[in-house]
Amino acid sequence: MKIREIIATISDFAPEYLKETYDNVGLLVGNPDSEATAALLTIDVTEAVVDEAISLGCNLIITHHPIMFRGIKQLHGRNEEERLLIKVIKHDIAIYAAHTNLDNAYLGVSFKMAEKLNLQNIKPLKSIDCEQKNGIGVVGFLEQKIDEISFLTQLKKCFQCNQIRHTKLLEKPIQKIALCGGSGAEFIDLAKQENADIYITGDLKYHDFFKAENSILLVDIGHFESEQYTKEIFFEQISKNFPTFASHYSKVNTNPIKFL
Ligand SMILES: [Zn+2]
Repeated sequence: MKIREIIATISDFAPEYLKETYDNVGLLVGNPDSEATAALLTIDVTEAVVDEAISLGCNLIITHHPIMFRGIKQLHGRNEEERLLIKVIKHDIAIYAAHTNLDNAYLGVSFKMAEKLNLQNIKPLKSIDCEQKNGIGVVGFLEQKIDEISFLTQLKKCFQCNQIRHTKLLEKPIQKIALCGGSGAEFIDLAKQENADIYITGDLKYHDFFKAENSILLVDIGHFESEQYTKEIFFEQISKNFPTFASHYSKVNTNPIKFL
């Protein structure tokens, strides 16, 4: 199997034209016509992930967050990104990124979160096409209403969070849920317009929490935590098309944020 064929399973699912203009997605390093040995699936590429790929014999790393996000003009090995780039080139390892195109794709990052929470009747929070299929974030419903504390406890467990940060409890049950994987502060108003009981995302700042205004419960579960299951999308797409091709989930916890 060529690298071109493996990455096509991801780009068919999350076409690169769905990316945001500022993004850097697609095959970032490597020759698409090389034979793929095995793929390592990750949220971020760090040196530890590259070492893992080398030890597992994977010459393809598929990542959610891209490298070379702001471009690169010299390659001296002065920081982790430059060092890992030199390492992947020396070891003939390719890197493919599906970032905002996977955030915006139907059944992408936020849909995977909704699947983990068993949400029903799901649709994008912000559609980007007239069929209302592709789009960012998700709105959906729990099968049954549940009190806030029970839901937050389940949420924390489901996304393996060390802590979750939330606004004042509204003493009303949760059923309609809006969520967005990664940094979703800019969609708080959309979640409120949807009359969602709760909005779940990552990277909320102090002033973002004031926007709850007693009309919605805002919850920050963490950027990495919210997107951790994105790797499963890569696995599903590759194994659906190439059942015998070996894909490995990276065992490196690339979350740079630790808790005391
Ligand atoms: Zn992200």
